[in-house]
Amino acid sequence: MTNETQLQPLPPNFIVPTGAGVKLNILKLKPADDSIQIRILPMWMPICGNDFGLFWRTHYGYYGVNPKDPNQKAFRSFSCIQERKGKEIIVACAECDYIARKKNEATLLKAQLDSESNPERKEKLQVEYTKLLGWIAAHNNDGKKRIPVLDRKGNPGIFLAPYNVTEQIKTEIERLSKARFPIQAAGRKGVWFEVTRTGKASNTSDKVTVCTIQRDDGASVPDFHIVSDEQLENAMKVIPDFRKMKEQNLLSAAQIQQLVDLDIAGGGSADREKVEAVFKASKQTPSSPAAVAIPTSTPVAPQTQPAETTKDPFEDIF
Ligand SMILES: [Zn+2]
Repeated sequence: MTNETQLQPLPPNFIVPTGAGVKLNILKLKPADDSIQIRILPMWMPICGNDFGLFWRTHYGYYGVNPKDPNQKAFRSFSCIQERKGKEIIVACAECDYIARKKNEATLLKAQLDSESNPERKEKLQVEYTKLLGWIAAHNNDGKKRIPVLDRKGNPGIFLAPYNVTEQIKTEIERLSKARFPIQAAGRKGVWFEVTRTGKASNTSDKVTVCTIQRDDGASVPDFHIVSDEQLENAMKVIPDFRKMKEQNLLSAAQIQQLVDLDIAGGGSADREKVEAVFKASKQTPSSPAAVAIPTSTPVAPQTQPAETTKDPFEDIF
């Protein structure tokens, strides 16, 4: 192990990644039974909001028109713009509100279905209920923290951490920083973490542990890693600015409302050409989500943890 005092300070320019045109190395857990080892890089603290990564949610969105084949559907997804301060919603997202309404509808419909004794009416309700559940599943969202990491081969990449994993990493980083010999888990000299998923993805399926190695005297110690300038420089070239990634996929509050209105007008299926037009407009004018004031009387969707999703219909979106 290298002595702490021998460590060089981090290079001054390391906070400006370029990340131009290089295929991203995306690390994520498989939907069931998987494990990944990561070394969180000590970079981009300023561009991750002084955090070790940046979290955002992507709404699956709506079908647009596939430019290669207009008969084919194409997913048009967008970043969620909802912002909260604790339980209070500061910036509303029309899509989140719409989904919450649909979920309420489903709850009511289920109760109706369960209490219906007339077989004919029951069957009708069942069809309606199944359709609604289908809609909800198709309008899920993918919430992940993007964390700059090295994989075990030493390649820089982006680890997509579900909410529960993010929380555990945060706890581990804090615990290590308060140890008798404090460790900066994502510092110049950091540690390897192992993220293990047991069974199907859920809020309790994943466990974060610090990798350990056995010393000659038999003691178990953290598996440390010292990041070199070369590795940092390489990472800078490969990993883009997460804030920019998030912005690339942003629609304005008004544009999201347009999509919701299209879906309502189409009875749960938005016109694809019109969806396409909303996204085209968003590319022409740089959009920033306008803060929407929420009247205090507006019912607020219950606080839910960002959903872990097991399907990924848009591999190219982060
Ligand atoms: Zn949203």
